[in-house]
Amino acid sequence: MSQREEILNYFYILKKRRRLGSSYLFVGQEFSLLEDILKLISCSGNEYSCGTCWDCRNIAQGVHPDLHIIEPEGLSTKIESIRQGMRFLSLKSFCLSHKLLIIKDAGSLTLEASNAFLKTLEEPPPNSFIAVCAFGLEGILPTIISRCRRIFFPFVSKKPEISRKEEVTRFLEGENLVFKERKVFSDFLSTLINILHFVVISGIPVLNNKLPQAAGREIILPSLSPEKAMDILKYTARVYEARQSININLGMQLIKTRL
Ligand SMILES: [Zn+2]
Repeated sequence: MSQREEILNYFYILKKRRRLGSSYLFVGQEFSLLEDILKLISCSGNEYSCGTCWDCRNIAQGVHPDLHIIEPEGLSTKIESIRQGMRFLSLKSFCLSHKLLIIKDAGSLTLEASNAFLKTLEEPPPNSFIAVCAFGLEGILPTIISRCRRIFFPFVSKKPEISRKEEVTRFLEGENLVFKERKVFSDFLSTLINILHFVVISGIPVLNNKLPQAAGREIILPSLSPEKAMDILKYTARVYEARQSININLGMQLIKTRL
């Protein structure tokens, strides 16, 4: 049985025995699995998840009235978002036997938001199902971690390094790249920083030249002067510092404004 199947089976058993807990911390990268768990515990079609009933379809689209998703706004998840989530949990559910509250990126909670959220975790309203998602345990209050049942999701296998460099080249040439996983976004940023560093330190304006890399691989860069590279580097470094909490698309757009 794969890790994915094991996790789904675990929730299937909890649902069947009516032993579903109120707060879970999901750590990892494969968050498509969370949608499957939500459908599994909420499906009105059959005892697994049918994918076609009203509940399954609306959960998949993120518009179910008993589902509330909290995402970071820009750099962080603020206390007001948490308060909205708390209000949502205090209301009577529309059609499910429980209310589903999803915190998309626990690492982005401000300290104020974390403390407010902690109160909800200590005494969740009856029939709450709170799913806290995190890419790692760093930056999350230990008191939050200890109040949730922890489930580790599979990690996405890393792409070979060479394709990451090609991605950076395409980005520098103006292509729009969309990253869904924070880990992939973070890897992209560090590769971009390495390449920009190379241009700045070597002082060579790069005009569609092949640059030999330390590892013996070659990369092709678009026209990029050391001054320009320095400018992009400064911005990329700032985004990199905020990589755990910044909205990924916003981060990419911020760097893009310097190209
Ligand atoms: Zn269903």
